Amino acid sequence: MPPSTAFSTSANTSWQQRSRRHVWHPCTQSIRLEAVPPLPIARGEGVWLVDHDGRRYLDATSSWWVNLFGHAHPAINAALKDQLDAFSHVMLAGCTHAPAVELAERLSALTGHALGHCFYASDGASAVEIALKMSFHAWRNAGRGGKQNFVALRHGYHGETLGALHVTDVPVFRDAYAPLLANAHLVASPDARTALPGEDAVAVARRAAAELEALLAERHATIAAVIVEPLVQCATGMAMHDPDYLRLVRALCDRFDVHLVADEIAVGCGRTGTFFACEQAGIWPDFLCLSKGISGGYLPLALVMTRDAIYEGFVDDDVARSFLHSHSYTGNALACRAALAMLDLFEREDALQRNLGRAERLIGRLGEGLRGMPVDHLRQRGMITAFDVRETGARFAERFHLAARANGLLMRPIGSTVYLMPPYVIGDDEIDLLVDGTLATLQAVAEPAHAEGAHDVALA
Ligand SMILES: *Cc1c(COP(=O)(O)O)cnc(C)c1O
Repeated sequence: MPPSTAFSTSANTSWQQRSRRHVWHPCTQSIRLEAVPPLPIARGEGVWLVDHDGRRYLDATSSWWVNLFGHAHPAINAALKDQLDAFSHVMLAGCTHAPAVELAERLSALTGHALGHCFYASDGASAVEIALKMSFHAWRNAGRGGKQNFVALRHGYHGETLGALHVTDVPVFRDAYAPLLANAHLVASPDARTALPGEDAVAVARRAAAELEALLAERHATIAAVIVEPLVQCATGMAMHDPDYLRLVRALCDRFDVHLVADEIAVGCGRTGTFFACEQAGIWPDFLCLSKGISGGYLPLALVMTRDAIYEGFVDDDVARSFLHSHSYTGNALACRAALAMLDLFEREDALQRNLGRAERLIGRLGEGLRGMPVDHLRQRGMITAFDVRETGARFAERFHLAARANGLLMRPIGSTVYLMPPYVIGDDEIDLLVDGTLATLQAVAEPAHAEGAHDVALA
């Protein structure tokens, strides 16, 4: 049965039709909007999203990896209402405010003050742009303006504005715009799935780092920074690597005078089991990008943290030595206030500790259920769990998404990778529903429907 027939109520279909007429949906093949009408969401509560027909869907993707403590959380709602009555936004040039100051202080403390300054932006891609510009500019201020190039990892994803896209290596997002993009050096991904016979994840990490070493040895004079997604390359399909890779990259960056940019936009804020993914390697980058979960999934907020020594290189009478970058909503007070409420919840709920049990239950049940199924590489890092489906057939991601809806789950596989990335407030019963629903969905799409002329689009 095509699950799209589930939306026959007038409220749902009316919003779907109006949306199609005037809203341009992201990461969506518009021609498929009829077959895959967007879910019209009326409200959320905890891990659940509720449509206009009263149907409930477990948000197994945390709404594109941004939601940490569930939808409509009373504590975050209360903090935002309080901030609304004070003020919502003021420019951060020439002004400052408690939410921006306190958030920078608390995040810096979470790095043990290794990263002492915080530059605010709005979306993840803007944080990546800032980190790249800052790295280049820091070198220029230090009299090394020849360091103008960046190194990125194969299959990495850093956002889709032109600067961020130039260090992104996911063909579906990049190929159409390639003529507009500067060239970045690409080096091997340490993806543990690429292990050769006899290799473990550490050996893959060493092999990938050796390729970076060869590049830096030859080109370091023209290279400003290496950008990585620590521990999990999410958008390419939850490719996971050993923390050793980050230690090796840190050492190479030190040896060759190259900055390390850690893009923790997806993996930060506890998603991998530590607040910052870099903690698992015992390293700090020179620039750390955060977004997505930082506001608890409430408001667009991004930031770049950096070492005080780098900040001090920009303190000068000459305006050309100052960092020149501004977004109108930089340091938005409401968004910062949501982030502070998120950090409070982290402490109050002992999230990292309690997520250990959640992750264990999830992979335990999933591993049991997947036994004998045509899947490979069941893997987990903190609250990210994924597996790859062997025989997908045409339009697998889309068929899986629709079948998951019929099972009360909001999921979007990436190519043939199915992942579970629920909000941290998921309860035991909800984990069981999520696992059972995932297995039922997999069964439902197991026989590939070879639609005429259909081809898979690997959309995140
Ligand atoms: C999502 C993401 C970005 C881009 O963030 P946007 O807010 O979507 O611009 C950058 N890097 C990584 C690792 C991401 O997952």
